[in-house]
Amino acid sequence: MPNPLPIPDVPDVGPWVDEHLGHLVCDPGSAARGRHRGGQLAADAALASLDVTGYARRRSTVHPPSARGATGLSPYVRHGLLTLAEVIRAVRDAPGDDRRKFVDEVWWQEYCRHLYARVGTAGRAALRREPAVGTPRWDEPLPAEMACLRHVRAELEQTGWLVNQTRMWVASQWTVRAGHDWADGEAWMFRHLLDGSRAANRYGWQWSVGAMTSKPYGFARWQVERRARAWCSSCPLRDACPIEQWPEAASGAPLDDSWLRSGDDLAGPSTPEVRGEPDVVWLTAESLGTRDPALVAWPDLPAVFVFDEPLLARLRLSRKRLVFLTETLAELAEHRPLELYLGSPASVLRDRSPAVTFAPVPGFRTRAERLDVAAVHPHPWLVRPAGRDVTSHSAWIRHARRT
Ligand SMILES: Cc1cc2nc3c(=O)[nH]c(=O)nc-3n(C[C@H](O)[C@H](O)[C@H](O)COP(=O)(O)OP(=O)(O)OC[C@H]3O[C@@H](n4cnc5c(N)ncnc54)[C@H](O)[C@@H]3O)c2cc1C
Repeated sequence: MPNPLPIPDVPDVGPWVDEHLGHLVCDPGSAARGRHRGGQLAADAALASLDVTGYARRRSTVHPPSARGATGLSPYVRHGLLTLAEVIRAVRDAPGDDRRKFVDEVWWQEYCRHLYARVGTAGRAALRREPAVGTPRWDEPLPAEMACLRHVRAELEQTGWLVNQTRMWVASQWTVRAGHDWADGEAWMFRHLLDGSRAANRYGWQWSVGAMTSKPYGFARWQVERRARAWCSSCPLRDACPIEQWPEAASGAPLDDSWLRSGDDLAGPSTPEVRGEPDVVWLTAESLGTRDPALVAWPDLPAVFVFDEPLLARLRLSRKRLVFLTETLAELAEHRPLELYLGSPASVLRDRSPAVTFAPVPGFRTRAERLDVAAVHPHPWLVRPAGRDVTSHSAWIRHARRT
């Protein structure tokens, strides 16, 4: 078993990340912090100041940032610092249209998680149709001469976050217009996003490139003029814009999607399953909040988090993402005994009996199966998966929100 790592110092965890995890990042030497500070305090402060007035009208605004309606809660949601139920509760007194639109979007996150709980790693490939792939193929998927793409790329790489609108622009441009493989684009975006999740990122890419519906999303100058006008007027290519027209890529051939209509889901237990006497709480990246159900259920046990070295070596996440996670853990360590390791959960937890909160992702199952897990606590679903139709959000939501 590897030795525990020292606990990082709050507030500046950058040097700790460089020393212990620096060999695993895709962008050594880049800015230490993205747009978001990690930790429960920052998550709770974001929730306490949440104001979705104007959200319905401004959610898709890109530039200037001060005019955006998007809430920026996603990194906290992604890592379980805020549950979907908590963010829905926080807007109960908001104006009707804004509240409805916001809650609808939160349910999209739940849908992505349900879809992922069904498809797991099979979501690496197109699920319902072959993607729409533009021809001829561009040399660069995101040419730097185009101001819109240069700005979006810089924002992603420097801050680790994008509004939904520009995520769709990138995905569509990458594949539907420039003809590059969507899986490469998905991997690149995932690496840099503070909220990067296979559930939502793969779905977002699949949807944008026409692998989930019969119509790919088209990215053209029109959207930039509408959502970020200043970028267009300052662009060196404004009089020779290569995306003046809609992309022409036709939608791809349909695939067999019958297994999405009903099937088994990775849902986890609906009530705590206590099989033995736990001696530690195992934290996963899906649930790092102080209100993690296993942490709450076992208040006297120390917590353990393992930076999964083989996984991180494969993923090559950005430095910002690891700083965000480390800030979250360092803050937790101020209130609770915490052990940090670099290695694989199977070897670190080999002689322990952890309590853990179920994570509806395939990597959790493969790791948990190799451990002597003493207690599993339910994932906080808005509605539990029940083998229903997940082919489309509209098919799924009809049943989901009725339950
Ligand atoms: C190509 C592409 C990739 C994406 N990758 C991710 C990803 O890796 N992780 C991720 O959390 N979201 C992803 N999304 C969904 C969405 O873009 C982000 O959730 C949203 O932009 C986060 O910003 P916000 O918190 O300000 O959202 P808000 O608009 O304020 O919405 C509030 C919450 O609702 C959820 N939400 C909003 N829109 C969506 C959506 N379209 N799909 C799923 N959930 C949504 C998020 O949890 C978000 O935090 C992706 C979308 C696309 C098109």
